[in-house]
Amino acid sequence: MIEGMVERITGPVVIAHGMKGSKMYDVVRVGKEQLNGEIIRLDGESAVVQVYEDTSGLVIGEKVTNTELPLSAELGPGLLSSIYDGIQRPLPALVKASGSFISRGIMLPGLDHERKWTFTPAVKTGDRVTGGDILGTVPEYHIEHRILVPPGISGTVTDVHAGDFTVTEPVCVLDNHTEISMLQRWPVRKGRPYTTKQDPTLPLVTGQRVFDTMFPVTKGGTAMIPGGFGTGKTVAEQTLAKWSDTQIVVYIGCGERGNEMTDVLTEFPELLDPRTKRPLIQRTILIANTSNMPVAAREASIYTGITMGEYYRDMGYDVALMADSTSRWGEALREVSGRLEEMPGEEGYPAYLATRLAAFYERAGRVVCLGSEGRVGSVTIVGAVSPPGGDFSEPITQNTLRITGTFWALDTALAYRRHFPSVNWIKSYSLYLENIKDWFVESGYPDWKEMRDTTMYLLQKEVELQEIVQLVGPDALPESEKAILEVTRMIREDFLQQSAYHDVDSFCPMEKQYWMLKVILTFYERTSAAMARGISLAKVIKLPVKAEIGRMKELADVEKIKPLIPEIERTIGALEVER
Ligand code: ADP
Ligand code: MG
Repeated sequence: MIEGMVERITGPVVIAHGMKGSKMYDVVRVGKEQLNGEIIRLDGESAVVQVYEDTSGLVIGEKVTNTELPLSAELGPGLLSSIYDGIQRPLPALVKASGSFISRGIMLPGLDHERKWTFTPAVKTGDRVTGGDILGTVPEYHIEHRILVPPGISGTVTDVHAGDFTVTEPVCVLDNHTEISMLQRWPVRKGRPYTTKQDPTLPLVTGQRVFDTMFPVTKGGTAMIPGGFGTGKTVAEQTLAKWSDTQIVVYIGCGERGNEMTDVLTEFPELLDPRTKRPLIQRTILIANTSNMPVAAREASIYTGITMGEYYRDMGYDVALMADSTSRWGEALREVSGRLEEMPGEEGYPAYLATRLAAFYERAGRVVCLGSEGRVGSVTIVGAVSPPGGDFSEPITQNTLRITGTFWALDTALAYRRHFPSVNWIKSYSLYLENIKDWFVESGYPDWKEMRDTTMYLLQKEVELQEIVQLVGPDALPESEKAILEVTRMIREDFLQQSAYHDVDSFCPMEKQYWMLKVILTFYERTSAAMARGISLAKVIKLPVKAEIGRMKELADVEKIKPLIPEIERTIGALEVER
C-alpha cells in the first residue's frame, strides 16, 4: 500500500510526500477524514492531489493513502434518474447519510449494490462473445438496458442465467473463468472504445426552429451556447434536454446562481417527457455541482458525465449531454492551476485549457459500437458558455469555438427585447449543413437548404437595409426593399421566436417548421411579384392572411398551415385582378 503524508495544503490542492509508486489520476484518501482526492501531478516521491471536498481542518502530517485505482464511474442498471455530484456520489443518499451539509470523507457507491434487477440473457452456453456483445437485457424504466461484455474481454459462454441479480453478482461466466456482472467500472478521464466514428449525417431534432432549420447540430455533433447572464442558456439546455430526439440525456449543471441547481433538482423530477408522457427523469442522469461544492469536483463532473453518456451510446442509443455551464468548469481548472503555481496563460487560465476542452468535445460522436452486432450509437455535446459581461473574446468562448460544429450565439440585446431564443442569426453558424442536406431530402423536405439560404440572405439584407433606414429614413427605400423588411420581421417574429413555455409552440416538429417557413417565403415571393406588377405594399400587408401567418406557431396541426399557401396565391392574385 502506498501511504504518504500531507506536506502542504492550499485550498483544494494538497501536496503529499512519500507517495512513491503512485500513478497519475490515482484516487487517494486524504487525512483522518478520508477526503476523496485525485493525483494530478507527480514529482519524484511527491504527489499533487486535488481534493474533491473541503480541506479546512486538514493539517500537515496527516496520512494520505493511495487506492491505486483511477477515478472511475460505476456503470450499470440504476444510472437513469440518479442525481450525482461530480464524482458520482448519489446526492440524495449523501444528504441522507450526512444531513443537508454534506459531511466529508463519505464514499458511497454510484449504483445501488443491494437492489436486484431482472436479467434476461441474450446468449446461451457455447456462444462465443467479445467486448461489446450483448449478454442480456434488464428493464430500466422503459429503456432496455443492455448488459455488454466489457471492452477487451472475450471467450465462450459456459454459464448464463435468467433471474434477479444485484449489479455485483455474476450473470455470465466464460470458459477462461471470467465472471461478468452487470457492473462495469470505467476510468472517467479515458474515452470508452468504439469500432469506428461515422460522419455526422443525421440531425439532432430538437423541435426548436432556430436550431433545427437554421443552425442544426447533428447526432454525435457538438454545439456551444455562449451568452451573457439572462440570455437563455439554461432555458435552452433544459429545452433540449426535454425535446431532443435522443433516448438518454446526461445533464451536468454547474450552478451559476446559488439556488439555480436547487431549482433544477426540485423541478426536474417533476417534468414529464413531452413525447412519452413519462417522467423525464427516467431517461436522464443529473450531475449537480451546487455553488457550495468544492471546485475540484466540478472539474471532474464533465468526465463523469461523458463516461455515462458513452456507456449508453455503447448500447446503441442516442445520448445528449448538456453542460451548463462549461465556464464554471474552466474556472475550476483555473483555480486548481493557480494553486499549483503553474505558468498562467490567457486571463489566468492554464495553457492546457484548449487541449482539455478539445479532448472533452472529442468524446462526442456517432459511432459503430464495439461488438459483433454493429450497433450505432451517439453522444451529442451541447455546452453552454457564460463569458463574463457577455464578451465572446474571452478564452473559454474562443477555445470552444474552434472545436464545436454549431455555434448558437445568444444575444443580450435580443433577450432584452424578449426575442427568445435569443440566438443571434448573424453571428451563429452550423458547420453541418452540407452533411445533413441528404437527410432533409430523404425526409420529404427537398428544398430545405434553398429555403434556409434564402432566409439567411433576407436576414443579412435586413441588416444592410436597416443601416440605410438609420441614415436616411424608411422613405428612401424602394417598395421592393420595404417588402424585404416586412418579410424579415415575419421571419423573426413568426418563425425564429419560439416560446419555451407555450403549450403548442414549445415543440415544433420538423414538418411544421418546414411548412411555416415555406408559407413565409411564399408570401415573400408572391409579394415581390405583385409589387413588380405595380401593387402597393400597403395593400398586401393589410391582407388577413398576413395575420394568419402570425398565428401559425400556435397551430398544432400542420394541415392547417399548408392551406395558407394557396390562400396567399388567391388573395394576392385577387389584388392584381382588381387593379
Ligand atoms: P441564463 O442561463 O443565460 O442566465 P436563463 O436560461 O436563466 O438565462 O434565462 C433567463 C430568462 O429568459 C428565463 O427565465 C426566461 O424568462 C427567459 N427565456 C429564455 N429563453 C426563453 C424561451 N425560449 N422562451 C421564453 N422565455 C425564455
Ligand atoms: Mg443559466
